[in-house]
Amino acid sequence: MGQIQILNEIIANQIAAGEVVERPASIVKELIENALDAGATQIDLHIIEGGIAKLVITDNGCGMAPDDAVLCFSRYATSKLRSMSDFATLNSFGFRGEALASIASVSRMSLTTRQADTVLATKVVVEGGRILEVTEAGAPVGTRIEVESLFYNTPARLKFLKSPRSEASAIETIMRQAALSKPAVGFRLQIDATTKLDVRQAPSEARQFERAIYCLGEDTRGYLYPIDLKTDFLRLSGYVAAPLATRKDSLGLYVYVNGRFVKDKQLVQAIRVAYRTILEIGRHPIGAINIEVDPEVVDVNVHPQKLEVRFSEPSRVQSHLIRLLSDFLSTTPWLNSYRDLTPSPSPESGEGRSWALSPSPLGGEGFRVRLPSPDFGEPKSPSPTSGRGYYVQHGLGGAERYTDLRVVGQIDSTYLLLEGARSMIVLDQHAAHERVVFERVCAQTKQNGVSSQALLFPVSITLSPGDMQTLIEKKDVFLPYGFEIEPFGDHQAIVKTTPAGLKSEYAETIIKDTLSDLRNADRPDALQEFSDHICAQIACHTSIRAGQRLDNSEILALLEQLDVIDYAAHCPHGRPVVRAIPFTEIAQWFHRT
Ligand code: ADP
Ligand code: MG
Repeated sequence: MGQIQILNEIIANQIAAGEVVERPASIVKELIENALDAGATQIDLHIIEGGIAKLVITDNGCGMAPDDAVLCFSRYATSKLRSMSDFATLNSFGFRGEALASIASVSRMSLTTRQADTVLATKVVVEGGRILEVTEAGAPVGTRIEVESLFYNTPARLKFLKSPRSEASAIETIMRQAALSKPAVGFRLQIDATTKLDVRQAPSEARQFERAIYCLGEDTRGYLYPIDLKTDFLRLSGYVAAPLATRKDSLGLYVYVNGRFVKDKQLVQAIRVAYRTILEIGRHPIGAINIEVDPEVVDVNVHPQKLEVRFSEPSRVQSHLIRLLSDFLSTTPWLNSYRDLTPSPSPESGEGRSWALSPSPLGGEGFRVRLPSPDFGEPKSPSPTSGRGYYVQHGLGGAERYTDLRVVGQIDSTYLLLEGARSMIVLDQHAAHERVVFERVCAQTKQNGVSSQALLFPVSITLSPGDMQTLIEKKDVFLPYGFEIEPFGDHQAIVKTTPAGLKSEYAETIIKDTLSDLRNADRPDALQEFSDHICAQIACHTSIRAGQRLDNSEILALLEQLDVIDYAAHCPHGRPVVRAIPFTEIAQWFHRT
């Protein structure tokens, strides 16, 4: 007899669930999409223990008839698609009819649903994919779904879940993704006993704008601009932040295609290209951008969780996107407002306030904001104690030391002009000092830790839920780097100490960048990268700056720290430190050879 058998439906559903239902957040994504497809204007979600123990979602959408309330648990049961040709005009999130069957197969679940024209609701109880009970119940119009004991029957999957906190923060991200793109719907998220997100319907532009700030982070206030532009092929709408407000990671950028949230590297890349010339290297833009195209040119059925799409003409989409966004970025008023950046208290939040779209007055707390004319700080005398040979000597011949050179002087308040035995040497004072401090800080972290200073006035910073959770789990990681940070309340942290010499205003950017590094730190090489990155940031903000006038003794002290000349040296950001022009070349300029 043959060996092949057809799997029974429950096992098939459990297997399918492996792709659709990865974690509580993916369940939430599916259930929110169902509620939106049902025309809900209010969606409430309550999760307990990160949704692993229990998750309850209620919507006021159209509900289901009694038959459908049972049928919806079968695989491929959908009201949204009848034939392949429907794909071309599909305007629902769902279409596969897999989500409810998959979720039900790996949990204990109940669904209570009522349509407007009936008095009673239908309640269906399902366990591990088996329907246990169908009864009538009293309930408002709409649908309420409870999912309990997730993965109780697939223990291997349970092991892959992260902490309830991580799962809760992933769920919050999903809620934000939905809230950003569906202003006509109110969303409420309760995590255990606390309300974490609560946005009412936002019918007016002002309310939508307020919601965008709420979802993208309070510190985008004053930097966010609505955008709505189109070509004959594509429309771009949503919100983008001025290039002054950026993030170290790409988590602040939400991209949608026809209202569907996507993780599309090529679209993100196109957005980065549009920002390229105005964004600091290594920083990412913030915004929520919806790309609308004819549904016929996009295939939404290419990813189990519908997180990716495929365009029939991807390069056309990219070029239109780049063109629209670059034009927008090159003409926005923020370019003019660079000059008068004066911090002032952030405007009152709340409904009904009028929206001044000019980026100033700025929220005074946006520390991660890059000011275009840097504050050079107090001139700092480099400590002469660290004359270790940080620079490996390259090339042949005896090592040439900086201290052997004659100092001609400082030019443009940024470069040191030096005379060597056979060449004129130009040194970038910031890049050079940054390199030395970087090496020193790295070495200190491996010994007793970076020396730190207690802040007379501890700095308080506001963190996103994800960052907050990372901080709670990993705050000790900061100690060797001179940062002592204590979580304070739900969204705040207090910075008690910073690395010696660091101006406290830089603490927030460094801490936030590091938190996002840490959050993505599951790769094996991530720890080293994170360490290098935080050391580089400390170095950058504690070293001599470009534009800082140095007197002779400061120049000599710097040269002493640099020790042996290494022409291949680069600063931690990859910029060269030193250049030499041989006298023979100078002679050629004047036809002396
Ligand atoms: P899909 O969304 O791909 O159709 P699902 O398994 O998510 O598949 O849902 C199956 C069907 O159940 C949907 O097509 C819809 O008719 C119905 N349904 C699910 N959730 C809701 C809801 N919240 N309100 C009304 N109907 C719903
Ligand atoms: Mg669905």
